Amino acid sequence: MNIAVFCGSASEIDPRILVAGRVLGQALASRHIGLIYGGASIGLMGAVADACVEAGGEVIGVIPQILVDAEIAHRNLTRLEVVRDLHRRKARMAELANGFAVLPGGLGTLDEAFDIITWRTLGLHEKPIAFLDTLDFWKPLKALLEHLSETRFVKPHNARMIQFCPTPEAMLDALGAPKS
Ligand code: AMP
Repeated sequence: MNIAVFCGSASEIDPRILVAGRVLGQALASRHIGLIYGGASIGLMGAVADACVEAGGEVIGVIPQILVDAEIAHRNLTRLEVVRDLHRRKARMAELANGFAVLPGGLGTLDEAFDIITWRTLGLHEKPIAFLDTLDFWKPLKALLEHLSETRFVKPHNARMIQFCPTPEAMLDALGAPKS
């Protein structure tokens, strides 16, 4: 089984979020689940990947050529796939993954997450999607989803499709990952 992780590349973030990312990386390795991610060595992306690699896990990075330098491509992965552009990155990550984990992140993380979410609402895949809600990070997104449901722009079952989980282990359970 492979889980794709979408998360931030920013560095100056709350260290408790970095710890949660490391816990996830270790949990993936101990459950023998492959990590698919954006291939960067920086920020929360780097923290999840480093922890998974250090714990003996399998990590596949998918990075577009234009970001190899900007995001300092991780050189210590099981495999680094360099693709032509951002669209191919998302498509390749989606192809390799059996489920999607969204960790705290910025605009890129939201873009990746909402592509996967909307692909599922359109019936293009049926893979589970869960957000790691460390420190209530996604509280404003939950409120927005409720607003979109109440105003009937989003069907309630589509809003409910997104699972919010308090811990990395709970998130892996929600994604159907086998226990170690
Ligand atoms: P951020 O959440 O903005 O720190 O970005 C997290 C990751 O998403 C980084 O590796 C970005 O390069 C990546 N990213 C940003 N925009 C896109 C996009 N449109 N498609 C795919 N990945 C993206």
